Amino acid sequence: MARYHGYEEIINSETDGCGYSAVQPRNDGLQKQREHAPTQPQRLRLPDVLTNEERYRRILGNHLPAQAVDWVYGYLDHYKVHFHITRERMSKLGDYRRPTPDRNFHEISINGDLNPWFFLWVFLHEAAHLETHMKHKNVQPHGHEWQEEYRQLIIAHTDIYPSEVQALLKRYTRRIPLSHPVGKQIEAALHRYDPDYNPDRLTLDQLSVGTRFRLVHKPEMLFETIAKRRTRWLCREVSSGRQYLVNGSAEVTIEC
Ligand SMILES: [Zn+2]
Repeated sequence: MARYHGYEEIINSETDGCGYSAVQPRNDGLQKQREHAPTQPQRLRLPDVLTNEERYRRILGNHLPAQAVDWVYGYLDHYKVHFHITRERMSKLGDYRRPTPDRNFHEISINGDLNPWFFLWVFLHEAAHLETHMKHKNVQPHGHEWQEEYRQLIIAHTDIYPSEVQALLKRYTRRIPLSHPVGKQIEAALHRYDPDYNPDRLTLDQLSVGTRFRLVHKPEMLFETIAKRRTRWLCREVSSGRQYLVNGSAEVTIEC
């Protein structure tokens, strides 16, 4: 069966895998910083009477919609994926690493703080990278081949999503570029299922150039908007001067 690593902090900002990013340091040679100091892995304690499969399914059930657990379990088992559920990472929501001579297995990691619908959404993104790797060589990470795999995975799982999300997913998979703004609408819709969802949430896309703000989920850093890119904002962290690309749908508070 696939190996499960439990709640494990993974410091992989140097990964060559493809991360699904919510907030990403600008990769232009500026010094990168680690988001968290390494911590000891925390493992869930479950009754010893449970088999490994039962434990695995139960842990998946804590993070996924119930209707998706069988499929995800079978998928991870089929490809013998090393699967990590991590703490929140500012740089990404999930990650896929292809096998290498040194690490001859697939690896997928997903942030454990995501609500179940969002967790599955990110899992499908990373599974599409795995599928693309298995079928194609030397293609763009988010190129046509990946988009087609992603599209098929979304179609296969649309029915289990709440109806208001289903409508967006159907629009998303209807031959439009997967960079289409409806992708951001889907993320905004999925955030409504966050336990701490704020209906009056302010997002980065609502700010103007030169606004100082903090990320709700990373309040210790003070940023200033510099310019809007396609779906992200180029921002500067005020204290260090470092520049970051931040997802426009990130929830923020304005700093006066
Ligand atoms: Zn990706």
